[in-house]
Amino acid sequence: MSIDLRSDTVTRPSEAMREAARDAPVGDDVYGDDPTVNELEAAAAELVGMEAALYVPTGTMGNQIAARVHTDRGQEILVDEQAHIYKWELGGLAQLSGLQVRTVAAGDAAVPTPQQIQDGYVEQSLHEAGTGLVAVENTHNARGGVAVSPETIDAAADAAHELGVPVHLDGARLFNACVALDVDPARMTRAVDSVMFCLSKGLGAPVGSILAGSSEYVERARRVRKLFGGGMRQAGIIAAPGLRALDNVERLADDHENAARLAAGLDDIDGLSAPEPDTNIVQVFSDEAGLSATSFVERCEDAGVLGGAHGDHLTRFCTHLDVSRADVDDAVERIEAAIEGSSQTSGSR
Ligand SMILES: *Cc1c(COP(=O)(O)O)cnc(C)c1O
Repeated sequence: MSIDLRSDTVTRPSEAMREAARDAPVGDDVYGDDPTVNELEAAAAELVGMEAALYVPTGTMGNQIAARVHTDRGQEILVDEQAHIYKWELGGLAQLSGLQVRTVAAGDAAVPTPQQIQDGYVEQSLHEAGTGLVAVENTHNARGGVAVSPETIDAAADAAHELGVPVHLDGARLFNACVALDVDPARMTRAVDSVMFCLSKGLGAPVGSILAGSSEYVERARRVRKLFGGGMRQAGIIAAPGLRALDNVERLADDHENAARLAAGLDDIDGLSAPEPDTNIVQVFSDEAGLSATSFVERCEDAGVLGGAHGDHLTRFCTHLDVSRADVDDAVERIEAAIEGSSQTSGSR
């Protein structure tokens, strides 16, 4: 069987999650009647230190609702050029909220600096729509699962707030950052106005994400969720596994350990380089092996290891709940054999 390292979204719900789904008390959540959804929203709000939370079907919807609630049409959102909310959500910011995007190059810092925010800020005037939102991301997906410190998040948020601009945190993998840096989630989100996190990634739930903020903000978000088609009925059936998923926060440390082991193993293979990861996302560069990411991914797939091409020579592997340390060792062996086999026999087959 293939070892699936494409993403931490590929995990299958555990028996406990399936049982929780079956046994969940439910009601119509659009009427606010689903006790399981209400319990999940309360637990999630408490976990990230916000007044209230909203259960949403996906992280993408959570981010897009967040942007819509914070802004007016035509305004600018300031983000890192590699931000998921801008790059990987089908231009939703333009399509759903009528926003213009101003990107800054955050580089290894992964989050715009106070200076970049001040420089990128546009004041509303007769001619200019103005900056309506700053969005930051932690961990930063496209930059390799970088765990950003709470001080860095605070600095960006303080700079934005001084300009009167709210801040949204795309925390699809928020708890990976918190566990890696040993920071309480409520501390990590202290300075931001809203936060989205995914239940369906490293935490292992089959579906669902959370958008949290002030009570007033979440009430407005609830209306936008309905507008975007995300008002669900007996959603307790899927929220129940989401509640169980909150028990999986601390064990993210195992994924990080496995990712470090995977990176070290791959980095030892001739032609590959894999920097030590902060969290559960491993980036592998295959240029020295003379392999494009696409052909490297194909070789890996033939050898029974699934990953994803994320750049010309950049492949991404993710560790998760359904990958053990033994799987990681196995994956390294399979990839090593595939790479060596290919260079020795190139031309002969
Ligand atoms: C996965 C991801 C999302 C979107 O979550 P979905 O549930 O897949 O829609 C948003 N932001 C980041 C940083 C992500 O990694």
